Order: sequence, then structure tokens, then C-alpha cells
Amino acid sequence: MMKDTKLFVVMPCYNEEEVLGETSSRMRELFAKMEGDGLISPDSKIVMVDDGSRDKTWSIISGLCDSDGIFRGVKLAHNSGHQRALLAGLMTVKDECDCAVSIDADLQDDINAIPEMVKKFDDGCDVVYGVRSKRKTDTFFKRFTAEGYYKFLASMDTEVVFNHADYRLMSQRALNALAEYKEANLFLRGIVPAIGFKSDSVYYERAERFAGESKYPLKKMLALAFDGITSFSIKPIRIVGWLGLLVCAAAIIAAIYTLISKFIGSSSGGWASLMCSIWFLGGVQLVSIGVIGEYIGKTYRETKARPRFIVEEYKKK
Ligand code: UDP
Ligand code: MG
Repeated sequence: MMKDTKLFVVMPCYNEEEVLGETSSRMRELFAKMEGDGLISPDSKIVMVDDGSRDKTWSIISGLCDSDGIFRGVKLAHNSGHQRALLAGLMTVKDECDCAVSIDADLQDDINAIPEMVKKFDDGCDVVYGVRSKRKTDTFFKRFTAEGYYKFLASMDTEVVFNHADYRLMSQRALNALAEYKEANLFLRGIVPAIGFKSDSVYYERAERFAGESKYPLKKMLALAFDGITSFSIKPIRIVGWLGLLVCAAAIIAAIYTLISKFIGSSSGGWASLMCSIWFLGGVQLVSIGVIGEYIGKTYRETKARPRFIVEEYKKK
């Protein structure tokens, strides 16, 4: 049976001249197969976003577009980073597609999961997450830090999908909801679960890069990790406030201890008053910072101007 699901695959590319030839032909092949299987419409597209590359990336993309109508190119004026490049691609195509899959240009994420994602979309899912089943190809350090990070995020109340990066399918409806998030500090894997539509996961094994090298140096990785916490959670501020209360409680104990020491005469002059002031003032200061923090936290939420609700369905009759 012919399906008319218009699928767009969006790939951010930053200095990826070494991988684009191979990537485009693998993707082309997969599209031909999915079309043959009646899974996607012939109007489906492969969209490459050039994130201000300095190598031949754009001339390769534009060559592909000239030679084959299945390819599309979006060129960003300057390097904006993976998350924004991805968003740029998704927002550019969202009105033309039924669903869009985002995937890195190096195809470390198994493209054979895409048909499965599309099937789940056909079954009514708005978001389908690609989840790494194993991390065999990662170094111990990467695996340990990545998994620890996901757990830490969860403890900070940032809702993320464990072992999912930015390989996912989103329906047009989910993309329209994503468009409502206007924040500049993008952490897509936190925003997408926050949208809240029906979702599911497909599992795959992540391969190594077949060519070129990682465009995510430790510095960018840390920045993204930090965004993940500070773009979603005001818990760190709260912790300061609680710490203040704890110190205040400790101040009372310290005061009792100093007074006892003073009266049994085992302290020198001025010590007791100093001790009490230090503890007490320390606590008061931390609590005050926590209180100010609460207001800053509110301001931070307001300035993000996130959607206050997303309607999933409006049923009449
Ligand atoms: N990327 C991008 N802009 C950047 C850095 C990376 O668009 O500033 C793209 C890159 O071309 C690739 C994806 O983001 O398609 C993931 O990057 P990479 O594979 O280097 O990250 P890793 O897999 O090593 O974490
Ligand atoms: Mg990669």
C-alpha cells in the first residue's frame, strides 16, 4: 500500500567535506528503499544544513542539490553550533513535511532505525527517540561521563531520555510546538520531552565516525552539558537557600557550644562573640542569596517566555 508520509531528514554539517559524499549516498539509498517499501512519499527530502563551514561543505551540498532533487541545502551565515543549526533546519522545513528526523552528518547513529521511527510515527507517535542500546564504541571515559551526566540531569529535574542524543523523529505538530520555545540557550534534548506529546523509542547501536573528526571538542561538550542544567533547572539556586538554612541550624549548635565553653572558662576573650557572629551571619547571607535567587529564578523563567501550554487536541463532537 502506498503511504504518503512526507519525511524530511535534517543533518547539521560543520566542516564535513570528508563525510558528505558517503553520507549522501547512504541516505539516498535508504530513501529509495523506504519509498520502494511504500513507507514514505516520493516527495521526501534529505536536508543538509551548513553551519558556517570553512571547508568545501557548502559547495558539496549545493552540487548535490543541483544533481538530485531529493537533496536540499540550508546555509547558515555563520557557525551557530550544532543545536541551533539543527533547529534552523527543522524550522526551515517544518511546514513542508509530515515528520522530520534529525541526525548527525557523520551517520554515527544507525540510519536503519529511521524506517522504524517512521512506522512508529504512522502508528500515531509525535516524537520517536533514537536511544543507544550499548556504548561499545565509546571510550570508558565518555561512557562514564555521559551516563553519569544523564543521571545528574535527572536529579536536577531536567527531563531527558536516558542515552538519547539528538537523533529523533518529530511530527509536524511537535515541530510547531518546538517553534514556541524561543530560548537562545538551546538544549533540544530537554525541550523535546517537555513538549509532552505521545512518544516512543527505537534502539540502535552507535558506530564510530567513518571519516573526519569530531566537531565537538571537550569545550563545546562541557558548554552543552552546562546548558542542560542551567537552561532547565533552578535547583542549584534552591540548594544555596537550603544550605543557608542548614548553616543557620548549625549556628545554633555552634552558639550553644561556644556559650558552654565560655562559661566553663575554657575560651579566651572575644572568641565566643566572634564564633556566634561568623556562623550566624554566614547562614543569614546564604539564606538571603537563596531568597534573591528565587526571584532571579522566576525572572529567568519569564525571560525564556516558554509556551505556557501546548494543546494536543481540540475535539469538536
Ligand atoms: N556540528 C554543527 N556545528 C558545530 C559542531 C558540530 O553543525 O558547531 C554538527 C556536525 O557536523 C555533526 C554533528 O553536529 O553533524 C555532531 O558533531 P560531531 O559528530 O562532531 O559530534 P560527536 O559525535 O563527536 O559528539
Ligand atoms: Mg559524531
